[in-house]
Amino acid sequence: MLVFATETSCDETSICLMEGRNIIEHITFSQEIHKKHGGVVPELASRSHLEKIQNMTSYLFNTKKIDPNIIDVFAATCGPGLIGSLLVGSTFTKSLAISYRKPFIPINHLEGHILSTSFNNDIKFPCLVLLLTGGHTQIYLMKDDKNIKLLGESVDDAIGEAFDKTAKLIGLPYPGGSEIEREAMGGNENKFILPKPLVKEKNFNFSFSGIKTHINLLTKKNKIDKKFIKDLSASFQKNITEILIEKIERGLERLKLENENIKSLSVVGGVSNNKYIKNEIENYFINRNIEIYYPLKEMMGDNAAMIAWACYKNYHISKNNIYFKPVPRMEVNNKLNK
Ligand code: ZN
Repeated sequence: MLVFATETSCDETSICLMEGRNIIEHITFSQEIHKKHGGVVPELASRSHLEKIQNMTSYLFNTKKIDPNIIDVFAATCGPGLIGSLLVGSTFTKSLAISYRKPFIPINHLEGHILSTSFNNDIKFPCLVLLLTGGHTQIYLMKDDKNIKLLGESVDDAIGEAFDKTAKLIGLPYPGGSEIEREAMGGNENKFILPKPLVKEKNFNFSFSGIKTHINLLTKKNKIDKKFIKDLSASFQKNITEILIEKIERGLERLKLENENIKSLSVVGGVSNNKYIKNEIENYFINRNIEIYYPLKEMMGDNAAMIAWACYKNYHISKNNIYFKPVPRMEVNNKLNK
């Protein structure tokens, strides 16, 4: 089955042509236009998607000589995300499906992230999924590919947002994730003690906005020089990682009481690319009999390959749904097309 998929939920324009576990073409364009604004501007994002998606697709069909008639199914991210951006990608993809008389499958962006590790790993169930992105911080219990339950999430900022806002406070450019990771190298991670909101609570929820407030105070009390930026980046990264590990630990303990013996941990989303977080999680889980999975590098951030893969995995339970309207807020397992 040859799947053509698009992803335009935020500031990445991405298209993918996939057949089973074979990625034939995958092109992702990260919109640079938001850098000078210090965050994603929704209107600019929609316009940029519109400009890019047509060129990328004609490149695939004309330059790469892919005959669109051989594509079996068209899929697009239909939520959650910025509504203007979702409309561009989904309407464009629907029109291709109509033109070539093929089915259109709407895909939930979060399901794309959650299922991304099953592309390159044989998942052992039950699996705990840690979804870490610029828009979401969530923990799921995945009993199998179709049985995915949200256990908890951030009650305020997403983890990627916390990185971006902290970077902004200490004068680093947007997007802040990679900037903080780079500055943290060689910084003193024990220099600043930062708060860990909600970490002792017996639920799976996160809260990151209080950390930002604390850092804001620190920037007023200290001189923002090179050393301060390095030490604060390192302390922030360590604090965030400890919160994640403590939450996973508590989660595993609670699930054990409910007779859910977790066999694996899947870390997905753009923040899973952070090497410090990865190493700390791996060190913690060494000798604990829990397998850890990450997506392929090209399937970590927002990308169309994970959308094509989610379509491929769920195709047998999905329906052709050309009338599906994109929704900015969407939960996993909301039966959007099943
Ligand atoms: Zn995402």
